[in-house]
Amino acid sequence: MPQQKMSMTTKILIWMVCGLVVGSLINAFASEITFVQDYLVNGLFHVVGALFINALKMLVVPLVTFSLICGVCGIGDVGTLGRVGVKAFLLFMLTTALAITLAITVAVVVGPGESFDMQTVGQAEFTAPAAPPLTQVIIDLVPTNPIAAYASGNMLQIIFFTILFAICILMIGERGRSIAQGAERLNDVMMEVVNLVMHAAPIGVFALMAKTFSLQGLGLILPMLSYFGVVALVLVLHMTGTLMILLKLLGRVSPLMFLKKMRTAQIFAFSTSSSNATIPVTLRSVEKRLGVDNSTASFVVPFGATINMDGTAIMQGVATVFIANVYGIDLGISGYLTVIGMAVLASIGTAGVPGVGLIMLAMVFNQVGLPIEGIALIMGVDRLLDMMRTAVNVTGDATITTIVARAEDKISMETFSDPAAGQVEEVHLPHEAPLTEK
Ligand code: ASP
Repeated sequence: MPQQKMSMTTKILIWMVCGLVVGSLINAFASEITFVQDYLVNGLFHVVGALFINALKMLVVPLVTFSLICGVCGIGDVGTLGRVGVKAFLLFMLTTALAITLAITVAVVVGPGESFDMQTVGQAEFTAPAAPPLTQVIIDLVPTNPIAAYASGNMLQIIFFTILFAICILMIGERGRSIAQGAERLNDVMMEVVNLVMHAAPIGVFALMAKTFSLQGLGLILPMLSYFGVVALVLVLHMTGTLMILLKLLGRVSPLMFLKKMRTAQIFAFSTSSSNATIPVTLRSVEKRLGVDNSTASFVVPFGATINMDGTAIMQGVATVFIANVYGIDLGISGYLTVIGMAVLASIGTAGVPGVGLIMLAMVFNQVGLPIEGIALIMGVDRLLDMMRTAVNVTGDATITTIVARAEDKISMETFSDPAAGQVEEVHLPHEAPLTEK
């Protein structure tokens, strides 16, 4: 009988659950054992997990750069590029606004924090880091030094410069062709590097999960169950409801197939808590699994990872209602409308990295006059919620990419409908002659 091979996603999923179980067991039974803490949690798990995240981050800048050059040269027309950009931007803002509106509505109905006893959670300190004003965010779109932008991984600046550069490749006509072809080959090489790194994913994801859960016992959730539960509920509602309805109505594609093919990217987002670090996997899933053309995906995916954060907006909506309830403050309709506007704006200026949601929340609280110290209450469970909301953020990015691609007729429906399309292949190390001449 031929043996059916286990897909990479299933493998990663199994290792992820194992990591969760091992971590939770350590948290419950071995948190006092120095040997386990020193050698396993802060030793092996920490090192392997950090190596894996570094390897992913390593791919982001070169992949986005080469892919974007190919994308712009593939579109070949600045007008179309502008149209894709505007569509994506508006849809990103729309989904973020819908997400936070849903979050506030559900939270107001459920009322988390109404009979909250402050004594049940240990008080932590929260000092709000300064967030950049919107004017600065706009000014910073243009890098003074592109090399510095690439070196620091400033995504919006990288996108700006690369698009400009690629447009000029088009503008010099025939002479630019070899540069465009070179970028195409470099992009193929980078995609292969993504493939290689993905082979390390089961171990990497295991280590990340084991470390997180050995430090963050699930018991933390109990005193915060009302807050945690509402955020989790709205995250699920938004991901499987709002986003999938939009995908069906505007994108006219099957939400089930979409979700199935996005599983790998969601797992990566969940275990790394970073939309930015997940860009290589999102890009790969959207292009190779969903069939979106590189000309759309190369631009919309990194753009979304930076400015689109539906899951984070949901956390902010529920946190606002929760803290307002705990402190007995009535925000009123205008207060909530300010929260919605602020959350949408805040998501533009902050990149998708772990924990940035709390910084954005501080901006929102400042605006509506809620006590910033209140954020200390929810900090304990934020690590776990960060994982969940990052998976939703990444799903949102891919949803909008698919919708825009469909509107632009830049998606292969044959690839989309093929369940096996773009699965991570085996790695074949070449045994042939070297490519360069002796
Ligand atoms: N970790 C999230 C992301 O990377 C941002 C956040 O909510 O803190 O998308």
